[in-house]
Amino acid sequence: MGFATLRGEPAVNEFDLAIIGGGINGVGIARDAAGRGLKVLLVEQNDLASGTSSASSKLIHGGLRYLEHGALRLVRAALAEREVLLRMAPHLIRPLRFVLPLDEARRSPLLIRLGLFIYDRLGRREILPPSRALDLITDEAGQPLKRQFHRAFEYSDCFADDSRLVVLNAVDAAERGATIRTRTRCVRAERGARGWRLVLSTQGLRETATARVLVNAAGPWAEMVTDTLLKQPPKQLLRLDKGSHLVVHRLYDHDRAYILQTADGRVVFTIPFERDFTLIGTTDQAYSGDPAVAVPTAEEISYLCGAVNEYFRTVVSAANAVWAFAGVRALYGDGHRKPQDVGRDYTLVLDRGFRKAPLLTVYGGKLTTYRRLAEDALGQVARFFGRARSQPWTARSPLPGGDFAFDRTPELIERTRQRWPFLTDDHLRRLVGAYGTRVERILHRATRLDDLGMRFSADLTAAEVRYLMTTEWAQTADDVLWRRSKLGLRFTDAQRAMLDRFMAQTDG
Ligand code: FAD
Repeated sequence: MGFATLRGEPAVNEFDLAIIGGGINGVGIARDAAGRGLKVLLVEQNDLASGTSSASSKLIHGGLRYLEHGALRLVRAALAEREVLLRMAPHLIRPLRFVLPLDEARRSPLLIRLGLFIYDRLGRREILPPSRALDLITDEAGQPLKRQFHRAFEYSDCFADDSRLVVLNAVDAAERGATIRTRTRCVRAERGARGWRLVLSTQGLRETATARVLVNAAGPWAEMVTDTLLKQPPKQLLRLDKGSHLVVHRLYDHDRAYILQTADGRVVFTIPFERDFTLIGTTDQAYSGDPAVAVPTAEEISYLCGAVNEYFRTVVSAANAVWAFAGVRALYGDGHRKPQDVGRDYTLVLDRGFRKAPLLTVYGGKLTTYRRLAEDALGQVARFFGRARSQPWTARSPLPGGDFAFDRTPELIERTRQRWPFLTDDHLRRLVGAYGTRVERILHRATRLDDLGMRFSADLTAAEVRYLMTTEWAQTADDVLWRRSKLGLRFTDAQRAMLDRFMAQTDG
């Protein structure tokens, strides 16, 4: 391809497509491209999903609220994606019912009913049940709420483990031939007429790679990459916006979520989380600076607690926080609107001037629409590669461990129980939820718990940690406890340090 002439140095590795960023959009593009026969390189400066893609509200949703802003195109596409993703990863993604208590002072019930009527019909829906009205006096959903809430609507969306969704896309991409390099930062990108030369840094070690097409999927870092690596003036199309979440011990016993209307015209969700907890989020705050250091502020925590305390009988405060985290949205839009009003849709910008290798930049996007975004990205770049399959393929291809019908999880749990009867109910449900049919690769021929090796806190075993290190790029305790699982909620600092020591001594 003649890349060596860029600087006279031979390239270490030659790729068709190089992707900067191992969040959901980068790995989605890597998987799609690898499945079309392209030679793909993805570099992520930290761990997979260490950016925004582990800090979302974890909803695979149309976004009922976006209807208020007339975002019909986004809502339609996102609604349709819910069931596509549910079928692709039935172990990771589950349907979830949302209870919306009515408060006439905040929104007219008639308007909400109209919104739900549209929501039920706008996207294809074969699995998820439609919305309905609820009497909070008789329905158990009314029990944790204050007495003044008598009526509600209930509707469907889905909930996903966001960071595992990223990791499984990366695993699938790798199994289709992609090279996935974590803790590898792209520090320079030089553009030639026929390709890119990238300088990569992995824990201080430098190497080069070449690619015909470069994708900038750096999420909230995208314009920083444009500016510092690509040496192009950023178009200032991104608006950064921070959102924070709070996790408390579970607020109620049933398995539905609530969507609470707040006094400032927004909504706050309370979502059953990791069996024993409730996830509360989120906020919207304009943000500047490095997205890596975004943290929840006391003001945001107090805002979230305030929303819960308006509706629930149980009072929560910052003191109840088991965990709090913040993420930075990369919103595509001008700087004039309020953060909650700026579009959540994505835009792909392809730059391919005369004698300039192509560059595709991803602006914005949602976890929910990542697969569609990847399909659109390949739609734009596939033409540069004659041999690449141009047909979309990902909608019907399960993610690793997801090769079973969306409504067959109970059978998979039962089969797992029969084959490994020594597992406790909570342990086997967690393993099936995380690994689906691939639990076998962790449990193998074990006939008793001791066969799985050293036991850490909660139900984590050495066998699972080794699997995560060899198959899912886990290198540190945090990779395991916060991005491959949420066991961090059940580990003390000392237990985490012990896991780190174990991993440092174990060959991945
Ligand atoms: P990221 O996940 O941030 O990935 C970009 C990656 O690029 C980072 O990991 C970064 O380390 C890497 N990178 C940057 N520079 C370099 C470099 N030079 N070299 C190598 N790597 C580099 N969406 C939904 O659908 N549902 C929700 O419920 C939802 N809730 C949300 C709540 C909040 C508070 C936030 C902030 C977002 C939410 N979203 C939700 C949106 C969703 O999380 C994002 O759209 C998505 O995670 C963006 O993924 P990404 O891959 O573009 O970015």
